[in-house]
Amino acid sequence: MRVRNKPWAKGYMADHLDRLVVEPEPLKGNWQSRFPSNQPLFVEIGTGKGQFIIEMARQYPDRNFIGIEIQTSVIAVALKGVVNSGLTNIQLVHTDGEAINTFFEAGEVAGLYLNFSDPWPKKRHTKRRLTSPVFLAHYADVLQPEGQLQFKTDNRGLFEYSLGSLNNFGMVFEGVWLDLHAATDGVEDIQTEYEQKFSKKGPIYQVIAHFPTNN
Ligand code: SAM
Repeated sequence: MRVRNKPWAKGYMADHLDRLVVEPEPLKGNWQSRFPSNQPLFVEIGTGKGQFIIEMARQYPDRNFIGIEIQTSVIAVALKGVVNSGLTNIQLVHTDGEAINTFFEAGEVAGLYLNFSDPWPKKRHTKRRLTSPVFLAHYADVLQPEGQLQFKTDNRGLFEYSLGSLNNFGMVFEGVWLDLHAATDGVEDIQTEYEQKFSKKGPIYQVIAHFPTNN
């Protein structure tokens, strides 16, 4: 996501540290302390301007949500959305999602969302894809048993890569959609900013899977 530098971003973020975490490691195992109620915790990596995660928090008040975003000028916009929403079951984290296992404890995360992640099409950048083995290993560390990884994208190349990557990791597929918006199986789809933009140009792909359990 390319955005212009926002001169107000850093000051605004410093003023709203009740909604934004900039040093997540000390919260490992203790994220519920950031919310009024102890509820299942759902995380989105690469949350962008927050449209998806804010709407999820609105529709599911019995869950807690965390949006992780690496870019300052982008998360500042998401933060405005969170503050203006008045919702208390959502927090944002300004960091690299790759390090997720350094700030969530094993089993602390009930479900994980990856929406329209950057495709990194060049082979030498494969490791930066959010569905590459390095990231998957960290997701496996923090997701509770049978906790879902839900991934959607408009990018067929990234989708095909991701199916292979999840499969190589032994993940169990719960559903694969090659045209999510044409689905007639009662799929609920809260749309992201990119989804609204790119669904006009072609199909949206989705996969829902979980890591194998050892029983
Ligand atoms: N999910 C949003 C949507 O669907 O509208 C935004 C999609 S945008 C293409 C991808 C976002 O992921 C960007 O804002 C980017 O900064 C963020 N991102 C990429 N790699 C990341 C990482 N390792 N950790 C956290 N955020 C990341």
